[in-house]
Amino acid sequence: MDSIELRHELHRHPELSGQESGTAARIATFFAALRPDMVVTGLGGTGLAFGFGSDADGPTLLLRCELDALPIQETNQMAYRSATAGASHKCGHDGHMAILAQVGVELAKHRPTNGRVVLLYQPAEESGAGAAAVIADRDFERLRPDYVFGLHNLPGFPLGEVVLRAGTFACASRGMIVRLKGKTAHAAQPETGVSPASAMCRLVDEFNNLAERTGIGNELVLATVVGAHLGDNSFGIAPDTAAVYATLRSESDTTMQKVVSHCESLVAEVAAAQRLSAEVKYEEIFSATINAATAVDAIERSCHDLPHTRVEQPFRWSEDFGRFTRIAEGAFFGLGAGTGRPQLHNDDYDFPDELIETGSRVFLRIVDNYLQRA
Ligand SMILES: [Zn+2]
Ligand SMILES: [Zn+2]
Repeated sequence: MDSIELRHELHRHPELSGQESGTAARIATFFAALRPDMVVTGLGGTGLAFGFGSDADGPTLLLRCELDALPIQETNQMAYRSATAGASHKCGHDGHMAILAQVGVELAKHRPTNGRVVLLYQPAEESGAGAAAVIADRDFERLRPDYVFGLHNLPGFPLGEVVLRAGTFACASRGMIVRLKGKTAHAAQPETGVSPASAMCRLVDEFNNLAERTGIGNELVLATVVGAHLGDNSFGIAPDTAAVYATLRSESDTTMQKVVSHCESLVAEVAAAQRLSAEVKYEEIFSATINAATAVDAIERSCHDLPHTRVEQPFRWSEDFGRFTRIAEGAFFGLGAGTGRPQLHNDDYDFPDELIETGSRVFLRIVDNYLQRA
């Protein structure tokens, strides 16, 4: 099986975040034939890592990809379309896995002679839980990196173009859940209860205008209300509960802390004014992905004769690769997936096979920038 066939096989059998055991088994089988110098399984759940070369001789360079697919019904009709109802590879992680498989094929032929390369297949990127779980796993010591690199395919950029940015590459984000609680009343006598209705509306409005009202200037700050809920639709009862769901984004983790404390004091103030109790919780917490300038320069040197560009603004989406650039020098970069095609997470998206060759070439050039190979 070659790396393109591997991608089609992975695409046909997608698995959701944290449940990628079949995908991990397919990857393990592919790599068994390459006889890596180190194999680690069960990393942070279903994660795997394959080492080529030895860390006794020099630095460890870690390349990372993701195992998980999304809860989206695929609408494409190609032969290798998803065979699982309600799940599909709509972020192109099947392609990222195939790129690292191709890198593995090349490293097996020409192993590092003064250090090692670790190929990490990380679980649960989409939920934001996987990178943290891998790093917290005690087996992570066996692959502790000096340098880390990762890529994401980017529809909307020319096919094969390498997309670079020093500093923030992808934003910090988190889902915020605000629950308000008052007191029910007969719908005929709402004044005898405490309804959270106007507090809920005020919070929706405040969150949707957060950037202008916080005065946290200079960098991107964004809150998007993604849902709100009031009472339980029963016509005889004035409601006592409400919830507001918002996604918060910022360019740095420091700014995220400011946004979070701004939102929490706003909730406390609005709730107190209406005699409500309030609770705030968070889900899907992503750190900002911050690239080291030296690592971005190294990528640019490595692919000086390939199409590449530096972008002015950070990407607004989030990526849990940021966890790795907190513990080692490194960078995340984009690989153009072509213009005029579906976007990531669209139900008709499919990773372009041509990028397997391009992505693996860029990764190998980065490897050769840091290490020698046989
Ligand atoms: Zn995604
Ligand atoms: Zn992704």
